[in-house]
Amino acid sequence: MASIQHDLVVIGAGPGGYVAAIRAAQLGLNVACIEKEKALGGTCARVGCIPSKALLESSELYYEAKHGFARHGIRIEKIDLELEALMKRKDDVVKALTSGVEGLFKKNKITRYLGHGRLAGAGKVVVESGAERTELAAKHVLIATGSVSAPLPGVELDGDRIATSTEAIAWPAVPKHLVVIGAGAIGLELGSVWARLGAKVTVLEYLDRILPGMDTEIAAEAKKLFEKQGLSFKLGVRVTGAKKKGAGCVVEVQGAESIECERVLLAVGRRPNTAGAGLETLGIALDERGRIPVDEHFRTSAADVYAVGDVIRGPMLAHKAEEEGVACVERIVTGYGHVNYDAIPNVVYTAPEIASVGKTEEELKQAGIEYRKGSFPFIANGRARALGHTDGRVKILAHAQTDRVLGAHILGPRAGDLIAELAIAIDFGASSEDIARACHAHPTLPEVIKEAAMGVDKRSIHI
Ligand code: FAD
Ligand code: NAD
Repeated sequence: MASIQHDLVVIGAGPGGYVAAIRAAQLGLNVACIEKEKALGGTCARVGCIPSKALLESSELYYEAKHGFARHGIRIEKIDLELEALMKRKDDVVKALTSGVEGLFKKNKITRYLGHGRLAGAGKVVVESGAERTELAAKHVLIATGSVSAPLPGVELDGDRIATSTEAIAWPAVPKHLVVIGAGAIGLELGSVWARLGAKVTVLEYLDRILPGMDTEIAAEAKKLFEKQGLSFKLGVRVTGAKKKGAGCVVEVQGAESIECERVLLAVGRRPNTAGAGLETLGIALDERGRIPVDEHFRTSAADVYAVGDVIRGPMLAHKAEEEGVACVERIVTGYGHVNYDAIPNVVYTAPEIASVGKTEEELKQAGIEYRKGSFPFIANGRARALGHTDGRVKILAHAQTDRVLGAHILGPRAGDLIAELAIAIDFGASSEDIARACHAHPTLPEVIKEAAMGVDKRSIHI
């Protein structure tokens, strides 16, 4: 059977794969992308970032209508939740975005193959779809197969009541009591969704804090706010099992009483997805955490085979995967391509949002780097007061001698949007003085960033 020739074959159409495919096509390559799911866009668009944010938005509006509108003098007699309509809106948002990617593939003349892709030796990729088998010949292959939910021994996932995020974004009714295992991004975001819609939510976390990796002070402040919203936390807890019991579930915890509940969400991380990718045909070995090892240009140990996104080292974030996809193909075509890993923001879309970029205080202390800190609360900002969202703060960490911004952490309204200014500051090597001297419109939330930057030099005005 003759193989179909392509300059680049991408396996996986998530943010890493589809963005790389588009950039490569822009640069003049003949590109194919293999995706096993009908919809393009990957975990992010189908069952991750996008549907979870649609649910966060709807549930926040519902919560605000119930608990926040009265403060604005808006009285609503009766508020009803139509979960089916809320879920349909989420599905519509997903559909619009995944079809958008399909349109972009057509516009950029990228050949899409529907099926399971796997390496089949040097320069060869096979697509399998049922009994059909297509052989592709590729000058370059990019593996962007993403990640899947990590299991936990003893937790008997049943695709419904004891669930991963994929099922928990589509439950047909609000559970009376939901137990979430893991206080990371997924646990807090989806825990918030269901709590706002009326569920009692208990979050079990193995560590003695929530959101490991985020700034400790900010995470502790966020936990208190989530508790006020009704989430309850049990920290330092080792879950040993979860199974169905009658119409509900039971979660077993080491050295403590087991917890009965209606549903369970397992959210203890994700692991790289390399099953059936044919890595062995080219002798590509995985690292100790199941990731594909790559060098700084995303080259694997096999010639002309690259990997980006969740399947390699680094944070499992959609925008990180996108940056890598672009840098990888630009490097292939132009010889240049770079990702600044110090300037990748991380956002948790709870209320308030939590966002960070660069180093945490703990990391700077550990590395023995001297820093100065500026911090400013939203409660002292006019726009935050007008919005009625005054919880949280902006914290900026700058090098003690050079004043270069090394890290920034935000808990507060629209933190996920605000962090962009600080990501650019870090990317451009800005000092806290640069931010403090830049004019920020009044009254806006970014003024809190300016004031925090001034705070590095102990000269914030409004506090
Ligand atoms: P993926 O998006 O996982 O895409 C890989 C694709 O490859 C998939 O479509 C898969 O079907 C396909 N595939 C795998 N193997 C094969 C094969 N052999 N043949 C053909 N196709 C294959 N990140 C953020 O930055 N912001 C967020 O708000 C956010 N929210 C999230 C919420 C949830 C509930 C989840 C689960 C994740 C979230 N993430 C978020 C993480 C984000 O989704 C991932 O970091 C991102 O999708 C990784 O992109 P990727 O291209 O590496 O892989
Ligand atoms: P995570 O790594 O963010 O958090 C997992 C949590 O589970 C950690 O706090 C960990 O200590 C805890 N944990 C681990 N084992 C445990 C156990 N046995 N018992 C109790 N707790 C345990 O993982 P996640 O929340 O599942 O998210 C997976 C990935 O998806 C992350 O890498 C995240 O970056 C990404 N994601 C990002 C966003 C976002 O950017 N807003 C949203 C959702 C998911």
